[in-house]
Amino acid sequence: MLYLYAPQEADVYQALLSRAMPGREVRVWPEPVDAASVRYAVVWGPPPGFFAGMRRLEAVFVLGAGVDKLMARDDLPSSVAVVRLTDAGMAQQMLEYALYGVLHAQRRMGEYQHQQSAAQWRPLPARLASQTRIGVLGLGEIGGKVAMGLATLGYRVRGWSRSGKPLEGVAACKGEAGLEDLLADSDILLNILPATADTRGLLNERRLQGLPKGAFIINAGRGEQLDQNAVLGLLERGHLAGALLDVFSEEPLPVSHPLWRHPAVLVTPHIAAMTLPEEAVSQITANLAALVRGEKPAGLVERARGY
Ligand code: NAP
Repeated sequence: MLYLYAPQEADVYQALLSRAMPGREVRVWPEPVDAASVRYAVVWGPPPGFFAGMRRLEAVFVLGAGVDKLMARDDLPSSVAVVRLTDAGMAQQMLEYALYGVLHAQRRMGEYQHQQSAAQWRPLPARLASQTRIGVLGLGEIGGKVAMGLATLGYRVRGWSRSGKPLEGVAACKGEAGLEDLLADSDILLNILPATADTRGLLNERRLQGLPKGAFIINAGRGEQLDQNAVLGLLERGHLAGALLDVFSEEPLPVSHPLWRHPAVLVTPHIAAMTLPEEAVSQITANLAALVRGEKPAGLVERARGY
């Protein structure tokens, strides 16, 4: 039996999964089931204790690219395979989101908005893509495609990953020294890292100070990777010019949070790259078939490294 937990779009996913796997019984939370008969689960953000009693659970398919919330649970034994989505239509969305922020910063749209509010007509010097340095943190299924897409558009792109992954048009770097070099050389910093023990708190005040004066930050990875108070302080001191933020240490971002009202900050509600149900189900179906054949599915999470 396959048990689905996707309260936002349960009907859509149930219909797609049932159609894609006609021979398999698909049950949907909160319908009670015999936990011992659940072999597979398809989930996004299941509540604590959701996996309790699922003794025969073989694999959990996540309806997203990030698995940070699942890694920290005590009701999911390490023997159970966790399989995430790999791109599944998210890389293109993320590229579009990043490009929106990049153009906002490069074409000085924040400054022109400010001018408009004072009815000021004051052209600023041109800044070309070829003069704009972008640092991308995370060169995975999504981040890698975003970095290469920006490079194709003529931006000067440097990318940071654990392995120093080589990508066409992207200057690769790794390690602490590589990160420091990247920060010092980024007019725009774009974070698309997974949240792991190593990346939580990565973009702290000290590292953010390593960015050039006037830098712009785009955070579409996870909120706990970026020190939000440090961002506010660096904006106040004029070290940062602005930020486009999609993810936050607390979501939804609390109504009273100053980021909502900061004139140089653009806030979006975790929508940079959304899960597309048809692509997701087609990938899950293929991955489940691979597991049944005894093969390694695409997107199998390495539990020890956390992504
Ligand atoms: P992925 O394929 O797993 O790639 C992760 C990348 O991060 C890899 O390049 C990896 O390096 C690098 N990395 C991991 N830990 C690192 C470390 N400690 N130091 C340096 N580099 C490290 O992930 P993805 O599919 O591209 O997705 C990335 C993340 O984007 C997700 O985990 C999620 O948090 C976020 N996301 C956000 C949204 C949104 O709407 N805001 C949507 C989708 C995804 P290697 O290449 O060397 O392994």
